[in-house]
Amino acid sequence: MDLEDTLLMMPGPVPVAPRVLRAMSKPMINHRGAEFSAMYDDCCEILADVFQTKNDIFIISGSGTAAMEAAIGCTVKNDDVVVTLENGKFGERFKDIAARYGKVNPLEIEWGHSFDLGEIEKKLEEGAKAITLVHNETSVGIQNPAEQIGKLAKKHGALFILDGVTTLGGDTVKTDEWGVDIAVVGSQKCIAAPPGLSMMSVSKRAFEAMDDNDKLPYYLDLKAYKKSGDKSQTPYTPAVPLFFGLQEALHIVKEEGMDARINRHATGAAAIRAAAKAMGLELFPQLNDEYSHYSNTVTAMKAPEGVSGNDIKKDMMARGITIAGGQSHLSGKIFRIGSMGNVQPKDILLTIQELEIVLKNRGVISELGAGVEAASNVLDTLI
Ligand code: PLP
Repeated sequence: MDLEDTLLMMPGPVPVAPRVLRAMSKPMINHRGAEFSAMYDDCCEILADVFQTKNDIFIISGSGTAAMEAAIGCTVKNDDVVVTLENGKFGERFKDIAARYGKVNPLEIEWGHSFDLGEIEKKLEEGAKAITLVHNETSVGIQNPAEQIGKLAKKHGALFILDGVTTLGGDTVKTDEWGVDIAVVGSQKCIAAPPGLSMMSVSKRAFEAMDDNDKLPYYLDLKAYKKSGDKSQTPYTPAVPLFFGLQEALHIVKEEGMDARINRHATGAAAIRAAAKAMGLELFPQLNDEYSHYSNTVTAMKAPEGVSGNDIKKDMMARGITIAGGQSHLSGKIFRIGSMGNVQPKDILLTIQELEIVLKNRGVISELGAGVEAASNVLDTLI
């Protein structure tokens, strides 16, 4: 198997367009020069549209977790309480980060289940400096109700810190309208740039919360990012080749337009769900209210009776398609198909076709075709 032919259908990193790869092979430039500043401003301008925000935008040389840590590390200290919402792996990560900088008041529910807004409000009533939410919990394929939780955060005066790592650039995120003080995204997900950068928006209120913090992180000091950002620079030497790639990837986003991009993501995920249903597979998320939804960028399915999700992943890999298994205690119990970035209908159809073969060979289904047919019927509106 020629690995260069492998189709990545995992929830990041995602395939990167050849023009993005070409952009990264340009000669290095001075990161304190005019050329870099123009590129920085260009990226921030497109990102403002992706984030739907007028807040400051920063680009960090570090993956999504770096931006999560910058958000917490700068705004939370000592006895500050953070309500952390956990229904999957990345909610847990926010909790672990918050515990390093302040005190956590966690709301932990079974992974893959939807939150009860009443329970969240009770936590906020106990007093909180900030609340963290993972918009799209990639580990379980659920989209959490950011808008509603934003309203609760505002009502109780808590900073709203949103992980939009697998929504921004592929799904609707209304940073300003939803009252998000800090939103973060990684480069290797819906924006379809290579891994290694993270982008974040930071509100005035979030900056005010940093004013009395004399123990700001050093490398991830957002005040330093603001000072340099005002000069269209980063405080330390940025990963210049990744910036070249990001700029090109953002131009692809702009050329497609966010509305079309969001529609393509939603339709792609709907096609995978339709195929799952047609093949008799059960979706993993347990949606208990009208505010939580299946993810528009990653679909998590329960492993069929008697088959490990890891075996499905292995069989798919042998056929040239990389999908994801379950994380932590969900390893073997679920498998996940990512459909984020520049993924096209043909990629989804091929993935479903191969999945049908894998499932037939494992004795899960007896005939081929139902999954592809169901997915095709959803995808036929897209070109
Ligand atoms: N948050 C979410 C929702 C994610 O899906 C991921 C990565 O998969 C992260 C955070 C962590 O991002 P990174 O691996 O870029 O540090």
